[in-house]
Amino acid sequence: MREIFDNSYARLPDRFYTKLPPVTVADPQVLRVNDALARELGIDPDTLTAEVLTGNTLLPGSEPLAQVYAGHQFGGWVPRLGDGRAILLGEVTGDFGRRDIQLKGSGVTPYSRNGDGRAWVGPVMREYIVSEAMHALGVPTTRALGAALTGEGVQRERRYPGAVLMRVAASHIRVGTFQYFAARGDRPALRLLLDHCIARHYPQADGPLSFFAEVVAAQARLIANWMSLGFIHGVMNTDNMAVSGETIDYGPCAFMDAYHPHTVFSSIDQQGRYAFQSQANMAVWNLAQLATSLLPLMDGDPDHAAEEATRVLESFVEYFSPEWMRLFRAKIGLVTEEDGDEALITGLLSRMASSQADFTATFTALTQGDASQHITDDGAWDSWAPDWTGRLEQEPGDPKRTMRAANPVLIPRNHRVEEAIRAGIDGDYAPFHRLVDALAQPFDPRSDDLDLATPPKPDERVLRTFCGT
Ligand code: AMP
Ligand code: MG
Ligand code: MG
Repeated sequence: MREIFDNSYARLPDRFYTKLPPVTVADPQVLRVNDALARELGIDPDTLTAEVLTGNTLLPGSEPLAQVYAGHQFGGWVPRLGDGRAILLGEVTGDFGRRDIQLKGSGVTPYSRNGDGRAWVGPVMREYIVSEAMHALGVPTTRALGAALTGEGVQRERRYPGAVLMRVAASHIRVGTFQYFAARGDRPALRLLLDHCIARHYPQADGPLSFFAEVVAAQARLIANWMSLGFIHGVMNTDNMAVSGETIDYGPCAFMDAYHPHTVFSSIDQQGRYAFQSQANMAVWNLAQLATSLLPLMDGDPDHAAEEATRVLESFVEYFSPEWMRLFRAKIGLVTEEDGDEALITGLLSRMASSQADFTATFTALTQGDASQHITDDGAWDSWAPDWTGRLEQEPGDPKRTMRAANPVLIPRNHRVEEAIRAGIDGDYAPFHRLVDALAQPFDPRSDDLDLATPPKPDERVLRTFCGT
């Protein structure tokens, strides 16, 4: 195979990472290969063998390394985290730009702390399913290029089959990567990291402040996208926020079934820090940490630099709100803008909350013109629907078409994801493959896949998700 790697991160000074190969595994077996993505990246899918997907064999041109970073986890500062169970193989380049190829679950590194460096097949399946679904839903995200079983057991609450995910990202550089060097007062490293990120993600930026503005805008748009789909990330620590603006780290994430703004799934999020409705605020909190890390690179009077950075941070809402409005307008069939639209949307959402309406199914029903079977709270539908239909009459285009493109029929429902994981543990990967296949067409599913759109029955509801590393 032609050498496709060009490893710009590996050319940074050695305090950015530790170079080491993945730890080999006993008996690799392919779980799934994302042929289409491989081809997009100029990789022959046939080269993605089980040996390659687990890191036993390296793709030619790989320069494996574990990246170092820091982070605030649930608000608490951790000065050194890093790839404790991941290895960056390198970067592939082409018409698409530059993409990291990383293995997740690839064994211990100097950053593993007490962990085993491994992943079990449950989280690997979850990330594969959800990240590929997010991509099909139009949300910026890391992607799954393939996954393989290691043939080894991984000890958690019990022994599970081990697995490795081959992940693709615009980069794996996090807010926490900047924090790591800022906390050590390593200004030369910060400067190199900034230049690297500007060249890679925001070539239009000309310094720390305009770079920061780009990250703010990208995150604002990203979180608005999550909100429009009922997606809860669950672990928005600064080490899990990519400066590229892609969704990263699908640990305890979940799509809401019944809508409520305070919904939390993650078992480790006991204070509800990362509840659905808090995600924009938490993104701003994280971005404030990025701003703080960038301050040493800003010219002139430090007070002035801090004021400027604060002003940029406050522009988050100027990107978030219009994007949120645009997305939710489309969800109720609107492309034009009228003064009463926000009240119409929030009126719907509060009725959904009081009716415990299924988020996705309600919007699918609206697309059909009637969500009265979901907005069941006393009089709630009848007090909203006439304003909505009245507003739709002012729309020039075809509201149904607008809604069909904005309201997915299929999302990775928790009970389906867990069903696929349970089957996988027992060696049956058919439900996993079926979910991944179906979720590639979330807006226009095949009729055979419509059962996957059904909300969970009361006894099927998943109330908690686990990092389950
Ligand atoms: P996460 O909560 O997934 O963002 O991970 C937080 C930190 O814990 C990162 O530095 C991970 O590399 C590390 N980590 C998580 N699971 C493991 C594991 N099984 N072995 C080693 N390190 C881990
Ligand atoms: Mg992480
Ligand atoms: Mg994680």
